[in-house]
Amino acid sequence: MRYSRPRGTRDFLPGEMALRRAVEQKMRSVFIRYGYTEVATPTFEHLELITAKSGEEILAHLYHFKDKGGRDLALRPELTAPVMRLYVNQLQNSPKPLRLYYFGNCFRYERPQAGRYREFWQAGVELIGPASPEAQAEVIALAEAVLRELGLRNYELHIGSVGVLRKFLAERGVAEEEQCRIMGIIDKGDRELLEEELLKLGLSQEERSTIAGVLELTGGRDAVLSKARELLGERRAALEELLSLEEILDALESFGVKYSLNLGIARGLDYYTGMVFEIYAPKLGAEKQICGGGSYSLAETFGGKPVATSGFAFGFDRIMLALQKDGVELRGDEGVQVMVIPFGEEYLPKAVEIASALRRSLACELEVMRRRVKRALSYASSKGVPFVVLVGEETARGRVLLKHMRSGEQREVEIDRLEELLLEEAGV
Ligand code: AMP
Repeated sequence: MRYSRPRGTRDFLPGEMALRRAVEQKMRSVFIRYGYTEVATPTFEHLELITAKSGEEILAHLYHFKDKGGRDLALRPELTAPVMRLYVNQLQNSPKPLRLYYFGNCFRYERPQAGRYREFWQAGVELIGPASPEAQAEVIALAEAVLRELGLRNYELHIGSVGVLRKFLAERGVAEEEQCRIMGIIDKGDRELLEEELLKLGLSQEERSTIAGVLELTGGRDAVLSKARELLGERRAALEELLSLEEILDALESFGVKYSLNLGIARGLDYYTGMVFEIYAPKLGAEKQICGGGSYSLAETFGGKPVATSGFAFGFDRIMLALQKDGVELRGDEGVQVMVIPFGEEYLPKAVEIASALRRSLACELEVMRRRVKRALSYASSKGVPFVVLVGEETARGRVLLKHMRSGEQREVEIDRLEELLLEEAGV
């Protein structure tokens, strides 16, 4: 009986896994250079943690279940809520700012397609404590720095604010829950439904067209901001949010980040409060969003003290696709660098000893199939192993044969100098 993978999941073979690890490593190194340290949380959480403030879009796609103790649990659909739970439970009293990064698998019951899976990976950061424009600007700049480090060329950074619209609605007396629902509809891009719902909330024709107008605003900073100010007129709270956005954009200047303003970004998660941003890799088509983030408020939802927070998450799988589409040459781990083959069983103990010594610094495979040298060599060659050490009678003189697989050249070398020679030749 053979079993297939569950729908929407993937296996990763060694070659692909090596590339994924190489990219992951680069991402981690940028996070670390910006002062972030890693945290990890469980793969499943209490259902309420996720339902508290994630938004309808995510809830519709949740994997949830009861465990044998009757507890309602859910596989995490993202990592911001779990990381903020961790913060509230264990890190609230740590010195601020707290810079946390994570890398983990997430689960959403969605219709699988290219770039959309039921199990996927997110790499992201949360900056906890500072509310300053420069802190938020730095979060955006970090996302961009990661993409630059990876060598991605075709991407677009769009910055907006859910605060502007939320405050607009709040000023009109629309409750927070309703605001979230409206933002969800905007995120889905259903403009007709939006019109209907705004009508139900009692918004006038003029108010509805102001909202529609603001959502359409994309492009360069000055044009978008002046049009937005014009549309918002006397709406104080919404204008203040626009001003906060401007301050972040001012701070972003010195980071040298290029972006478009896009006041139509709503984000599918309910916890965003102010600045939001998304990064797209246009070559990915429908599933082109490779990163999403912004400033949000969750600590108090989880019983903590309110604290300013901002962060983002990369869709790691989409980053891999975007790098491939962009033709970025990726180099994974080189694999086995040297294979040690004994000339028969009597030389096995010596071969083990030599392999163990080489493993201090090299990826070394020992022949354990008791194959004749010829067959073991053809295996090494089919795997592309660059060097082979043949262990035989020369050991009596403290020597072995070192074979260079590509040239076929073979020479006797001292066992004591083997590691040094290999390191030199393998260019490690
Ligand atoms: P979100 O948590 O919805 O803001 O998503 C953050 C990022 O995760 C998105 O920008 C996508 O790149 C990625 N993502 C979300 N859902 C999926 C999925 N089902 N499959 C692959 N990547 C996803």
